[in-house]
Amino acid sequence: MTTDNYDVIVIGAGVTGLSATIELLGHGLRVANIESQLFGGLIININELDGAIQGSGIDFASDLMMQASRTGATILSEMVTGLVAQPNKQLLLTTDQHSYQTKAVIIATGATLKALNVPGETAFEYKGISHCADCDGPLYQDAEVVVVGGGDSAFQEALVLTEFCHQVHLIHHHESPTAQSHLTEAVTQHEKILVHSSCEVVEIFGTTGVEGVQVKHLADQTTCHIPCTGLFAYIGLKPSSDFLPDDIERDKDGHIITSTKLMTSMQNVFAAGAVRQGYGGMLEHAIQEAKVAAQQCLLFLSR
Ligand SMILES: Cc1cc2nc3c(=O)[nH]c(=O)nc-3n(C[C@H](O)[C@H](O)[C@H](O)COP(=O)(O)OP(=O)(O)OC[C@H]3O[C@@H](n4cnc5c(N)ncnc54)[C@H](O)[C@@H]3O)c2cc1C
Repeated sequence: MTTDNYDVIVIGAGVTGLSATIELLGHGLRVANIESQLFGGLIININELDGAIQGSGIDFASDLMMQASRTGATILSEMVTGLVAQPNKQLLLTTDQHSYQTKAVIIATGATLKALNVPGETAFEYKGISHCADCDGPLYQDAEVVVVGGGDSAFQEALVLTEFCHQVHLIHHHESPTAQSHLTEAVTQHEKILVHSSCEVVEIFGTTGVEGVQVKHLADQTTCHIPCTGLFAYIGLKPSSDFLPDDIERDKDGHIITSTKLMTSMQNVFAAGAVRQGYGGMLEHAIQEAKVAAQQCLLFLSR
């Protein structure tokens, strides 16, 4: 294991991490960005972004990646596994391949889709259970599928699936959904989407692949069976923060708690984007937070 030195290390090459990396460059600093998977994070498979930033997710992320590489960031393909504050005010960051000394860190590790945690979910992963409507939608041509969730992502993905599927069941446990009104309107008016409110998927079953789901009606606890060959769950996000030490304060769900200046409870460590408690949820918020975290880092390093 070798040890390299940087002024700032940004963990994660999603929109937050890439935007922070770009913001930090051009100040004569040694900046590294460390990403464990492909760059782009959660938006990589979204063909049509909704909100202030439009276009395809991969195009948007690729532009950011190009800017980050062109402006001289060191981009490392490694998984960060630990972070320790050292007595000399430096931080020791370890990955699955190396260790690094750095003066400051920005954590931009985002989040992953939450699992339903119901019987059948593990057995049918990639055998009917999918996490990407744009990528896997064509596999469900004229099929009947289930989308689970009441927020923007579920509603957005259900609409994508109508391009391929014959029937989309949208199941959520609220009385009324939390998705934005333009998405709710588009979904409720769509002839291919059937919304099941106040309901929960309690089991996924099948033989070699998904054949249906058992659904519980929360009002009277009765259950029913919905046949389907595909299931897409968007019931919220789990922050990617398990690798961090206890010194970095988190809420009960694992979101990092920060000050208004995006400082964490560990000195010289900042957090921004979907990994953070209080994150706004949209790409424009990711970019704003990345700027704030990078500027705070620069301020700290100039002292
Ligand atoms: C289905 C879906 C659809 C969405 N659609 C839209 C939309 O249309 N418009 C919009 O504005 N927003 C949308 N969002 C929200 C948007 O995707 C997020 O707000 C944004 O992508 C968060 O960016 P991030 O960089 O903070 O996190 P992420 O995108 O999660 O990126 C974090 C990165 O960190 C990496 N990482 C994690 N742990 C480690 C580690 N230990 N070591 C190294 N790297 C690590 C991950 O691999 C990942 O690449 C959508 C979200 C979902 C789930």
